[in-house]
Amino acid sequence: MLRSWDDFGVSIFSKMTEEANRVNAINLAQGFPDFDGPAEIIDEAVVALRSGCNQYAPSRGFRDLRVAIAHYVEERRNLSFHPDLELSIFSGATEALFCAVLAFCQKGDELLTFEPFYDIYPGFALAAGASFQTVRLHPPDWDFAVEALAAAMTPRTRVLLLNTPNNPSGKVFSKPELEAIAELAIKHDLVIITDEVYEEIVFAPFQHLSIAQLPGMKERTIVISSASKTFSLTGWKVGYALADAKMIRRMRTIHEHIVFCSASPLQKTLTKAYQLPNRYFQDLRSDYTQKKDLLLEALRDGGFQCASPQGSYFIVADYHALSKEDDVEFALWLTREVKVACIPLSAFFQDKELMKRQHLVRFCFAKKFETLMTSAERLRQLSGL
Ligand code: PMP
Ligand code: GLN
Repeated sequence: MLRSWDDFGVSIFSKMTEEANRVNAINLAQGFPDFDGPAEIIDEAVVALRSGCNQYAPSRGFRDLRVAIAHYVEERRNLSFHPDLELSIFSGATEALFCAVLAFCQKGDELLTFEPFYDIYPGFALAAGASFQTVRLHPPDWDFAVEALAAAMTPRTRVLLLNTPNNPSGKVFSKPELEAIAELAIKHDLVIITDEVYEEIVFAPFQHLSIAQLPGMKERTIVISSASKTFSLTGWKVGYALADAKMIRRMRTIHEHIVFCSASPLQKTLTKAYQLPNRYFQDLRSDYTQKKDLLLEALRDGGFQCASPQGSYFIVADYHALSKEDDVEFALWLTREVKVACIPLSAFFQDKELMKRQHLVRFCFAKKFETLMTSAERLRQLSGL
């Protein structure tokens, strides 16, 4: 149980990236592309910087960007949110999530999420003074028991934090699963915060569905996403939240107290990104499908067991046929000896000591084909060791 910020230590992403750099390994650990976002968008950013867009933006974000995102969401998710009242810009999905949790979880409340979870979620609960509760997703399919979810809901549960497509598992929650979650959320009068940053990275035949698209759910759901994954611009840290006007108002107040506004020239530029034609999103998906298949095949050839992810840019790999070491030792060994870095999956669980023995690690395939090809060569050699 994490009771203070001192209990956290340095994030596993920083640790593994540092180690990969130290030993000159390929970094398939931290989730970020080793290629740039669309060239025309980057050129636009230079124009924005050169044309005086360098002072504070409105706290809620430039209107042009809010309108562009509202259209994008309407077109691609069939969801309608008013750009002035029901949509706001944040410094990445991270800040939007933080504001959402602070807005709706108070001291003594419970924040419920699925486990494995993106590693910063427990810190949100700590900041709000809420307790952090989880329901297990079971590998290799990462399914869950609806009874377990129902049993985890108590009179103190206030917020259910969802993440689909899921990091680290690559699970895309299905319509029946979301319907079961929605039914329980209505019964317990919960606020749902849904982290959908990988919404555009989903592999056929799977499809992304936001729980806000289900009947009766829009008014209790905060949908959060960002430009990080959709436009391969993780360093820009521009994200957004969609929710009913009362909810957005409270989040805007918190945002004003944290950063006031997000980077002006980047917001200005991203208006164009959210107006890119359908073709851009199709290409993103087909590019990542090929990258996923390339790494999956190499991992399997090397002796890992892995299911194909349904979405996100991560593969979870079971290495028990290769080593009996715990996942932290194995990830460090692979980084130092094979020169391919990955993340021990225990980082995404509460009981890290116990989960280290699951023999699971996570690889990121948001990399150039040449990076993945070199990684594949190195990973294939494992079968001969
Ligand atoms: N949620 C999940 C599940 C993520 O994997 C990430 C990736 N960094 C984020 C949120 C943060 O997104 P952003 O870069 O927009 O803050
Ligand atoms: N979301 C990224 C991952 O899962 C990491 C982002 C970060 O390092 N903060 O690897």
